Amino acid sequence: MTLPLRAKHALGQHFLRDESLLERMLDETPLKAGDSVFEIGPGLGDMTRVMARRAGRVLALEIDKDLVPVLRTQFALDKHVNVVEGDIMTADLPQLLTPLGAFHVIANLPYYLTTPILTLLLQLPLPIKSICVTVQTEAARRVLAQPSSKEYGPLSLLAQYRTQPRAAMSLPRRLFTPPPHVDSTFLVMPALQQPPVQVQDEAAFWRLVQASFAMRRKTLVNNLMSGYAFDRAQAQAWVQAASLPLTVRAEALTLEQFAALDAARPNR
Ligand code: SAM
Repeated sequence: MTLPLRAKHALGQHFLRDESLLERMLDETPLKAGDSVFEIGPGLGDMTRVMARRAGRVLALEIDKDLVPVLRTQFALDKHVNVVEGDIMTADLPQLLTPLGAFHVIANLPYYLTTPILTLLLQLPLPIKSICVTVQTEAARRVLAQPSSKEYGPLSLLAQYRTQPRAAMSLPRRLFTPPPHVDSTFLVMPALQQPPVQVQDEAAFWRLVQASFAMRRKTLVNNLMSGYAFDRAQAQAWVQAASLPLTVRAEALTLEQFAALDAARPNR
C-alpha cells in the first residue's frame, strides 16, 4: 500500500491501514459509545477515524510535525477529535488528559518506546479504564509472563498489578506499512478496580522490584545488597523476614511475595 508521506523509521512508523482489521481490533476493547480515548501516535489517522465513530472524545498525541497538520485537516469537522503535537515521554499528561475524565488508551505503539510508554502509563495517577496497545510480540510476552519464565520481570509485575492483560490478536508483520522486522500482538489490558496486593508506598515498591531484577542471574540477596547498600547479613535477614529462601532469584517471586518482601523491608 502506498503512503501519502514517507514513513519515518526513527519514529517507529509502521502503519495499520486496513479499516476492517482496525474495526475488529476495536471490537476486542472495552470501548463503549461515548467513552473518551487517548491515542498515542495516530500516524496517518486510520485508527483515529475508526475510533472517532465510536468514542465520545478522542485526544490524539503525535510527535511528528509533518503529520500533525495532515491529521488536523482530516479531523477539522470532527469537533470531538483533538490532535495535539507532543512527545508522550515529556508531555504534561495530567494537564492534557484530566479534561477527558476516565479514558481508554488505544495505540499502535512505536517499537522503540514500548517499555518506557507502558511503564509510564501503568504508573500514571489518572483514571485509565483500559490500555489497549499493539506491541511487538516479545514485549507482549513480557507483559503476560508468569514467575520462573525468562520473560518475567518488572513489566509483568507492573502490568499485572494494575490490569488484567490478555493477548487479543496476533498481528503478523505483513499487515503493517511498511512491514517491521517483527510480528506484533494487540494487548487488551482492562484496569483492575483494586490491585491484587496492598503496598504501603507504590513508588518504593517499584524501586524494590527494579532493584531485585537489576542483575537477573544474581540472587535476590545479592541484588538487595547492591540496590540498598546493605551488607550480606542485613540482606539475608530481610529475605528471611519475608519467609523467602536465601538462594531465591527475583524471577521466581510472585507479586504476593514481592509485597511480603516490601512489608518486611528494614528501617521503614
Ligand atoms: N497509529 C498509527 C497506525 O497504527 O497506523 C501509527 C502507529 S506507528 C507504529 C507509531 C506512531 O507513534 C507514529 O505515528 C509516530 O510518529 C508516533 N510516535 C513516535 N514516537 C512518539 C512519541 N514519543 N510521542 C508521540 N508519538 C510518537
